[in-house]
Amino acid sequence: MSYAVQQNDRLTAEITDLTHDGAGVAKVGGYPLFIPGALPGETVEFKVTKTLKKYGFGMLLNIIEASEDRVEPPCPVFPECGGCQIQHLSYEGQLERKRKMVREVMDRIAKLPDVPVHPVKGMEHPWRYRNKSQIPFAERDGQVVAGFFRSRTHSIMDTETCLIQSTEADVVMRAIKHGLHKLGLKAYDEHKDKGFLRHVVIRKGKATGETMVVLVTRKRKFPQKDAAVELIRGVLPDVTSIIQNVNDRKTNVIMGDETIPLFGPEVITDEIGGVRFEISARSFYQINPDQTEVLYSQALEYAGLTGDESVIDAYCGIGTISLFLAKKAKEVYGVEIVPQAIEDAKRNAELNGFTNTHFEAGAAEDVIPRWYKDGKRFDVLVVDPPRKGCDEHLLRTILEHRPKRIVYVSCNPATLARDLRILEDGGYKTKEVQPVDMFPQSSHVEAVALVELK
Ligand code: SAH
Repeated sequence: MSYAVQQNDRLTAEITDLTHDGAGVAKVGGYPLFIPGALPGETVEFKVTKTLKKYGFGMLLNIIEASEDRVEPPCPVFPECGGCQIQHLSYEGQLERKRKMVREVMDRIAKLPDVPVHPVKGMEHPWRYRNKSQIPFAERDGQVVAGFFRSRTHSIMDTETCLIQSTEADVVMRAIKHGLHKLGLKAYDEHKDKGFLRHVVIRKGKATGETMVVLVTRKRKFPQKDAAVELIRGVLPDVTSIIQNVNDRKTNVIMGDETIPLFGPEVITDEIGGVRFEISARSFYQINPDQTEVLYSQALEYAGLTGDESVIDAYCGIGTISLFLAKKAKEVYGVEIVPQAIEDAKRNAELNGFTNTHFEAGAAEDVIPRWYKDGKRFDVLVVDPPRKGCDEHLLRTILEHRPKRIVYVSCNPATLARDLRILEDGGYKTKEVQPVDMFPQSSHVEAVALVELK
């Protein structure tokens, strides 16, 4: 019989693993306990706060032996804020951790112990990398608060700075927070569904410097709009667009349907690897521009294009990868489920003068089989699915039509590994996997795999 862990026990144990949300894992008599703030390799003293059948939770009391990779988190609201999970781990430690996570699923889920998993491509300066911030505003004790939602709650962690967002976003966030009442406006009260300002969204085109500020308001009527524009332009003279977005619903969705330009054009432009993109208030766009270029370059390299290939970009979003590929391919077919994103993709293709791209809105698992049925043939397939991975029907279509090469871009190593196993069993070989750090300080892992027909 193993020792039965009880609530309120004070225990000492070694941390052997780290969970996806950055908690240390200790096993006491085989029973796993999750201890936020503890790192692998550390010996810690903790108090058991909760016990469930298969696992429990602990509160860190003392670090008896610290990890060599432990660093002082620079952010004042870490870890309560929840936006970052692993600021207390050195950046090298983070990258090593992320590689291990990919390695582990390649062994355990994909059953591919021999596939090389390269060291993670990280950032030189892993801070202030986000080109977009979506900041909720609220009233608390007569004051405006702004920051991020505390993990798994709807309570705002009031802050003056966020070290992974742009300095422009900091400046605008602070100015609006401290100036809102002077304009005679109130922030939104979620419970009473009252007040005016719900969110402020700031987006910056890294390559162009063009910056957009979106004020998400509960009501359309905005008599103070000139004063608000003046306030923002006063602290951010280079701002290129100020937009009002009206969201009058009781919802978690940040933006509503109506956008009203208050200053400047309705879009900003940005450039990744020589391709230009127009971004509107509501378009989807990768949030780490430097690493997006690294990720897409890796996908392009794995695609091995010579100019003669027909390529599919499945789950293409606004066509960012598609346009990267279109420079080197004969033709690119992009498919994406959100019609608005496909509109953006078409416009961006036109903006860049591409004539070899074709975009269609629909589910990849429906549209791609139809392309094949219509007699089209493809040499390379790039997939970049959401966390749940590729649809089973899409995988079956691939195994039936057998394109020579597949480039799998993944934001979830577990489903990547699952899908690679299915492809292996169907006659493909995984050649190598390159993780890329898109989200420093967070535990998200992105990876690209090269898969070829055996
Ligand atoms: N490749 C893009 C976006 C990847 S995110 C980029 O790099 O920017 C994954 C995308 O898959 C999202 O845009 C989502 O809307 C889309 N999606 C989700 N399920 C889908 C499906 N079944 N078929 C096609 N697209 C889907």
